[in-house]
Amino acid sequence: MSKQFDVVVIGGGPGGYVAAIRCAQLGLSTACIDKWVNKEGKGVFGGTCLNVGCIPSKALLDSSHKYKEVTEKFALHGITTSDVNMDVPAMVQRKDQIVKNLTMGVATLFKANGVTALEGTGKLLAGRKVEFTNHAGVTETIEAENVIIATGSVPVEIPPTPLTDNIIVDSTGALEFTEVPKRLGVIGAGVIGLELGSVWSRLGSEVVVLEAQDSFLSMVDQAVAKEAKKLLTKQGLDIRIGARVTGSEVNGDEVTVTYQDAVGEQKITFDKLIVAVGRRPFTEGLLAGDSGVTMDERGFVFVNHYCSTDAPGIWAIGDVVRGPMLAHKASEEGVMVAERIAGHKAQLNYDVVPSVIYTSPEIASVGRTEEQLKADGESYNVGMFPFAANGRAMACTDTEGFVKIIADAETDRILGAHIIGPNAGDLCQQVVIAMEFGSSAEDIGMMVFAHPTTSEVVHEAALAVNNAAIRSEEHTSELQSRKIS
Ligand code: FAD
Ligand code: AMP
Repeated sequence: MSKQFDVVVIGGGPGGYVAAIRCAQLGLSTACIDKWVNKEGKGVFGGTCLNVGCIPSKALLDSSHKYKEVTEKFALHGITTSDVNMDVPAMVQRKDQIVKNLTMGVATLFKANGVTALEGTGKLLAGRKVEFTNHAGVTETIEAENVIIATGSVPVEIPPTPLTDNIIVDSTGALEFTEVPKRLGVIGAGVIGLELGSVWSRLGSEVVVLEAQDSFLSMVDQAVAKEAKKLLTKQGLDIRIGARVTGSEVNGDEVTVTYQDAVGEQKITFDKLIVAVGRRPFTEGLLAGDSGVTMDERGFVFVNHYCSTDAPGIWAIGDVVRGPMLAHKASEEGVMVAERIAGHKAQLNYDVVPSVIYTSPEIASVGRTEEQLKADGESYNVGMFPFAANGRAMACTDTEGFVKIIADAETDRILGAHIIGPNAGDLCQQVVIAMEFGSSAEDIGMMVFAHPTTSEVVHEAALAVNNAAIRSEEHTSELQSRKIS
């Protein structure tokens, strides 16, 4: 007799493993299938996020940040160092150990919650059946009341730069360099390109970032994007906007890239090249022809607001469906779907999904940008406040950047927050909570913020929306309240 479950989840990344755990917690018999095999040849759960995404990239970002602090910032604190050495294999090994601990942690959570872990590949058949093939090639058919597709995404490859063994790599290869490349090219000035470019630039690579678009970080509020470009350039990243890569040629240990910019055709040679031109939904081999699931024109599994597909009892979440490709968005969709399968009325507020770029300083945002509001013809007020005027930021020599809060001109309800500065991701989360409760800028202004903390910059920016910032002086001359109607 074939196995039967209330829920089968295909894909064990942050969307799938969280959905599976929540389903089990709600009393549903649940299996989670994942085909990922790690460097040691072992089947693991955790998906892109834990294996080759959020976590390993942040591990290397932190190691490289510490190196940069020792070599450039310690002296400002009166600490002198000599003979600072860098051990790249040790950094990579530390990163690998964190990945191992976290993926083992998912296996432990599955056990603790009674989720059946199935290592291998899942294929959705008609009638809520799933064909499961384990790593030894043995296939069985599983029946489910509900199936959750959480198969995630993979890096986009472009014809001009086919990947090679170790010269032209994608984001996964860029987490595995065993030494610092002298000349490093990055194609794509998106989130992943800037983070990985930063890692290797901090460790000493000469980094050139080639970006096809004429604008920089077009999805980010442009005041923040402008500041980011200035600061990243100061750190040594050579960011070339309007530079579309059209070809590449590998010669021995180097690669010569051809790109087209406003001047014409250009050539540049690197020791390593990271292709970071985006990610695409992954559905290869996933759906039988009669599964009933439909796709949208961009190859994402088509779902409604509640992540329900066109096929009854089949749901899809995370990078494989519309919306931002972010781990926390995938996880929250997983929780929503689990709750809905269990009969609860869960929903997700897609208007308040934060997004963070882990450069230094960090860039974080939630809600709408000033450009979006302008395009929609909305009336709004803006409050901005710089970290340069904050005592804690000064004490920590972390004074770059600012907080920008935008509120509705009539109701004062917060519409967006855009931050570049120390721990911007954590600071932005404060505004996320406020927005989720429908807070006005005045509400934040009336709250008590601990002193000295960098969160006081959030407080002052909220006060500045209504022209009431306390510590506003010459620092803020170009960063004051504005009213746009
Ligand atoms: P995934 O994590 O991609 O997991 C999908 C899983 O499905 C995989 O394990 C795969 O093996 C499995 N699978 C696919 N098909 C099948 C099948 N047929 N059968 C069985 N298993 C299958 N996001 C953030 O929010 N913050 C960050 O800081 C961040 N940093 C990133 C850095 C990098 C370098 C990269 C590449 C991504 C980063 N992301 C970040 C994005 C984040 O990793 C993804 O948004 C997230 O992993 C998506 O989760 P998911 O569960 O939808 O899919
Ligand atoms: P993201 O999707 O945020 O990871 O960003 C990927 C970036 O890569 C986008 O800003 C694209 O404009 C950029 N990009 C895509 N193709 C090319 C190319 N051939 N040359 C240079 N940049 C590219």
